[in-house]
Amino acid sequence: MKLVISSAFVQITFGLSQDVLTIFNTIFVSPTSYSYAGSNVFYNGDVNTATQRVNFSWPAVEEGFVIADDSLNIAIHEFSHCLIIENAKKSYLARTFNENDLNEWKALAAKKIPLIREGNYKIFRDYGGTNLMELFATTLETFFEQPHEFYSYAPTFYRMTAKVLKQDPRNKKNPK
Ligand SMILES: [Zn+2]
Repeated sequence: MKLVISSAFVQITFGLSQDVLTIFNTIFVSPTSYSYAGSNVFYNGDVNTATQRVNFSWPAVEEGFVIADDSLNIAIHEFSHCLIIENAKKSYLARTFNENDLNEWKALAAKKIPLIREGNYKIFRDYGGTNLMELFATTLETFFEQPHEFYSYAPTFYRMTAKVLKQDPRNKKNPK
């Protein structure tokens, strides 16, 4: 479990200089989907900024990797959130992402949100239209699980994502 979960983090940070998480350094793995006390909303994964923990339901993590090409990968999804949150808290020079690249990505992504909400941007699932944070996570799931499809559908947005992450998973043998 540790190996599989860590592999998602290695995958998304492969081209970046960040090797570990500093705020979210506890990962809790649940045997099933879970809910918080007093709530009946069930999760397969979440990043909890209050407890500074990343929580996962193991079956969901496993499914994310077993079905490798459906753009659903909860480990990639939650770690994408961690990277964005930690990046924003770092000093300018210590940031994981190049500020200009990330801003360019955000500007492009912001234009996609209404299209996704209208159902006119089929490469991403509807959930990506929630907000920029969710679109970043959803984009990374698609980027790693269906890079060729993503590139054919939206080459500019694909290339921008590759620039932010400093890797191109279309080159399986040498993504960097
Ligand atoms: Zn999310």
